[in-house]
Amino acid sequence: MFLSLVLPNNFQFFPSMTDFHLLIADWYRLNHRILPWRETTNPYFIWLSEIIMQQTRIEQGTNYYLKFIAAYPTIQDLAKASEQDVLNNWQGLGYYSRARNLHFSAKYVVDELDGKFPKKYKEIIKLKGVGTYTAAAIASFAYNERCAVVDGNVYRFLSRVFDVSTPIDSTQGKKEFQLLADELIEKADPGTHNQAMMEMGSLVCTPNPNCEECPVQVHCQARKNDTIKERPIKSKKTKVRDRFFHYLVYSFDGKTIITKRTEKGIWQNMYQFPLIETESTEIPKSISKDAQFSSSVQKHILSHQRIFAVFHHIEAEPAKLESDYITINKEEIQDYPLPRIIDRYLEDTANQ
Ligand code: SF4
Repeated sequence: MFLSLVLPNNFQFFPSMTDFHLLIADWYRLNHRILPWRETTNPYFIWLSEIIMQQTRIEQGTNYYLKFIAAYPTIQDLAKASEQDVLNNWQGLGYYSRARNLHFSAKYVVDELDGKFPKKYKEIIKLKGVGTYTAAAIASFAYNERCAVVDGNVYRFLSRVFDVSTPIDSTQGKKEFQLLADELIEKADPGTHNQAMMEMGSLVCTPNPNCEECPVQVHCQARKNDTIKERPIKSKKTKVRDRFFHYLVYSFDGKTIITKRTEKGIWQNMYQFPLIETESTEIPKSISKDAQFSSSVQKHILSHQRIFAVFHHIEAEPAKLESDYITINKEEIQDYPLPRIIDRYLEDTANQ
């Protein structure tokens, strides 16, 4: 009898735990994607890949992963780099706090841990920017520690196989799914088991699942109960905040003005044109008298925010040089880490 701890009414869907392991492991052996960070047990590379892959598509993430290991082949190289260099390499991936945490933790490992990457889950999770999922992934992939990973793919897969209706974003749900994954984890090769669970969720048990290809289809409770579309359950809808940015794009003698974004929140320590934030796309009076023209509104969607940006072109020097203004030659702007929205604007204007 298994899973009785977590799901008292739902055990014995498989003849034994071993059957579940074998079905998943066989499928994984035949079907998994070859990805560069799966070919290594170097914890530094695995850590890099896990942080880069958060909220990123595999194709895009792979390019960044290869770029990072080329630029910083060891954790010492990453620790030695300047924050600006790290942010420059990260540019385009978004969620820049991840890059800053990565850099911070590299310095911590080098300065405080004698350059030795921690080996146990309970030590790895102390690194800044590393949560339960990432710590379990590193501990199991690099050191084969028996820690179950539960990411979005695993939530979806488990919620369907065992037809779990507890919301995955509730405290109870998180506890329940972690317990379930902990009970299921294979003893001999937990790293491969974790990879297989995640790969099942990304390739087969997707939002529109391909049940005909699924190795556990005959045991799947959601399939049996016709609840696949309702799994997993989420209790809350993410609240999205709309923000309206007006960028002042000065242009004079081949120069422009940028500022460093120092406030906490999105894009901290990146560079931007001087910015006025308002409550709507309506052009503030202080700008309309100076601007020659405004480029169309660009929309940028983050997990909790929608940014509407207007770029106002002003063919003149600023009337007043604010203390945080940095005057640069226009072509130097690419030397600075820039939010994706500004990068996109520069690409668009270069093509005009
Ligand atoms: S049978 Fe379909 S819904 Fe069930 S686990 Fe497999 S892919 Fe997911």
